[in-house]
Amino acid sequence: MKDTDNKKACSFCGRSEKEAGFVIKGFGGAICVDCCKRITQIIEEEERKEKINDVNSLEIGTPKKIKQYLDQYVIGQQEAKKVLSVAVYNHYKRLKYYASASKDENEVEIDKSNIIIVGQTGTGKTLLARTIAKMLNVPFCIADATVLTEAGYVGEDVETILTRLLQSADYNVEAAQRGIVFIDEIDKIARKGDNPSITRDVSGEGVQQALLKLLEGTVVNVPPQGGRKHPDQKFIQIDTRNILFISGGAFNGIERIIANRLKANAIGFSASEQRENINRDNVLQYIKPQDLKTFGLIPELIGRFPVLTNLDELSKEALRAILTEPKNSVIKQYKKLLEIDGIDLQFDDEALNTFVDIAIQYKLGARGLRGIIESVMTEIMFDLPDSSTSQTITITKDFVLSQFDREKERFADIA
Ligand code: ADP
Repeated sequence: MKDTDNKKACSFCGRSEKEAGFVIKGFGGAICVDCCKRITQIIEEEERKEKINDVNSLEIGTPKKIKQYLDQYVIGQQEAKKVLSVAVYNHYKRLKYYASASKDENEVEIDKSNIIIVGQTGTGKTLLARTIAKMLNVPFCIADATVLTEAGYVGEDVETILTRLLQSADYNVEAAQRGIVFIDEIDKIARKGDNPSITRDVSGEGVQQALLKLLEGTVVNVPPQGGRKHPDQKFIQIDTRNILFISGGAFNGIERIIANRLKANAIGFSASEQRENINRDNVLQYIKPQDLKTFGLIPELIGRFPVLTNLDELSKEALRAILTEPKNSVIKQYKKLLEIDGIDLQFDDEALNTFVDIAIQYKLGARGLRGIIESVMTEIMFDLPDSSTSQTITITKDFVLSQFDREKERFADIA
């Protein structure tokens, strides 16, 4: 009697059929439904992890394909998109190269292609980095360089940047190790003045020094919950060798540095020839690593960002295109929102141009477009869901101006 009971017990959890419900018997053992489900979950989880950890499962297209993807979301900035596409392509090719079993010790070392993007605020630096991460389906985080300080001072240690990446990867270390970190406002950690002897520069050069090891690729002890490192805290080790760092900054005043360099270069040989070719309206396009050095970044840091590119200021035409053309443009989003209520929302051309005019007048740039439209649409969004008939609404220039009139004080404060 006992023998038969045993045969009906689950070989994994040991529960009898009476306790576990249905037990499936096989040769030499048995399994209950609960254990069966649990094992399926474990297998699925392992398969998922394997997929995430498998570098070859990363689907990167050619640089052209990457740029085509960026074109769907980012207006203009052709040169930067091209440079970024190549950098990202090379980065993930490098990952595959190092993951491939055939690589022997003597082969060529391929450096990381960390990137610095220089451009005015609101021209698409974060958008570019975010879009790349979305395309690659890798963890992504934004770190603000202004809150960082040298270890031991009030502020955040540089390692907290990786805490954020780890959080965005749901604490999957392997995934985080292939992610993308966007360091915003890198220009704000420029050296404060040329005289290093007066005070320690803990939020400038000190942070630059601290960032070096993160950027070059090393194993870093990361506090899983962020905050200050302290001896009792358990750390998670992250290898930064394959993390792509993209930095962005406005580098206010760098145009003058570039212009001075160009002028200095022009004195001497082929002066007139050089001067003729220079486009004075957009000197940012001539940016070189040495300009970042003059601005106050240390050469070691600049050296760890081999890719340098710049963004153009957004023209009126670009702002107009940003309203409607990106795949998830703000106008498309509003149309979708109202479509859910059965309303066909239309904007006439003049209304769209007026949004752009307001953004320019109040110096709000592309980032401000959403806020302007929001302020104009609030009343409609409030009233329409209660009206019973399905209808078409067309937003006109007059409507935009009348609605915006009530809100303009708020925007004047921001400008
Ligand atoms: P920053 O250069 O300061 O990082 P962002 O990338 O955060 O600027 O841009 C702010 C917002 O403005 C974006 O979320 C996006 O909606 C819009 N935007 C800025 N530049 C572009 C662009 N070139 N193409 C499309 N949208 C843009």
